[in-house]
Amino acid sequence: MAKRKSPSDNKFLPYGHQWIDKADIRAVDKILKGDWVTQGPKVTEFEKALARLCKTKYAVAVANGTAALHAACFAAGIKPGDEVITTPITFAASANCVLYCGGKPVFADIRPDTWNIDSEEIKKKITSKTKAIIAVDFAGQPVELKKINQIARQNKLAVIEDAAHALGAEYKGKPIGGLADMAVFSFHPVKQITTGEGGMITTNNREYYEKLLLFRTHGITRDRKKMLRDDGPWYYEMQALGYNYRLTDFQCALGLSQLKRLRGFLTRRRAIVAAYNQAFSRVEEITIPYEKPEVKSAWHLYVIRLKLERLTTTRRKIFEALRERNIGVNLHYVPVYYHPYYQRLGYTRGACPQAEAYYEEAITLPLFPRMTKAEVNYVINTVTDTVNRYRE
Ligand SMILES: *Cc1c(COP(=O)(O)O)cnc(C)c1O
Repeated sequence: MAKRKSPSDNKFLPYGHQWIDKADIRAVDKILKGDWVTQGPKVTEFEKALARLCKTKYAVAVANGTAALHAACFAAGIKPGDEVITTPITFAASANCVLYCGGKPVFADIRPDTWNIDSEEIKKKITSKTKAIIAVDFAGQPVELKKINQIARQNKLAVIEDAAHALGAEYKGKPIGGLADMAVFSFHPVKQITTGEGGMITTNNREYYEKLLLFRTHGITRDRKKMLRDDGPWYYEMQALGYNYRLTDFQCALGLSQLKRLRGFLTRRRAIVAAYNQAFSRVEEITIPYEKPEVKSAWHLYVIRLKLERLTTTRRKIFEALRERNIGVNLHYVPVYYHPYYQRLGYTRGACPQAEAYYEEAITLPLFPRMTKAEVNYVINTVTDTVNRYRE
């Protein structure tokens, strides 16, 4: 393994990065030399491994996390006219999947402490058209599942947990994945483990499971027991409008190999977070992320908020100064409804004041398992120096 250069060698430090080792490469190589390159036995093996980790009955592997969200909305029966409540502080895909099904995303504001969707705000947004809640485990911290599930039960809504940030996270000692009607994961390279592109839906509900399988392969079934007719041995049946959302066998081989390393990845993320928290809690102008005592975050992102009233400059200036010093700071996220596409659909600013205030102050710092100690210290020193320079 080539050693990463330190940032002083003018190497740009991204906010997230995969870690693929020789064992991962060997696992993929082996599959490429075999008979299955599209969906094959490794897909089933990867699904079983993820279901075991999440303690769920079922898991369905799909092409990416966005496809997983789309499939979950399909399984939940989202159709034109339906409303689905989600958070504005997420990747656009968490809301786009509702639009794919002809539904309407409704944004509920975030909590000021965890920056996750606020269950009290969810209640205010429920109408006779509401069908589901897409709750996002922002930065890897599980949402308030107990309250959200309760609201859903009272109002007959489905809960889809967008756990794209949260593989390996825990809620009250239980793994994320089986605590909502469906949970959705992404294996994009910046997430906890990668398959290149890749996604998964976990569920304990057989009806959802079967719909997900159908949706992944054009809405086609080859299961005789499920067919309405039987024209002969050649016959297969398209029963719904599905897509080709399959994941390949060699990607699942990579996923299986990466999954073996998940514990280590999470431990490393947590150690970096501890170092950041210790350093930045001493900087008056910075708010560090808050982790609720009843959860264990998977720490996908490390986001700080600047106390702008204590600074003589703007967030943009600090962001630019950090980029100039090769720190790949980022911003997660632009509130979804700020995007021109959503504005054209009629969404307006001012709808979620907590989310909008968050957006003015947030900066994502680099956080990934392969960061060296020197890189972590470089981020700590550079961020502290930069903020000190603009102290009021
Ligand atoms: C990454 C991500 C997705 C989409 O996953 P892809 O695999 O990139 O399609 C969905 N929701 C959230 C919150 C994400 O961070």
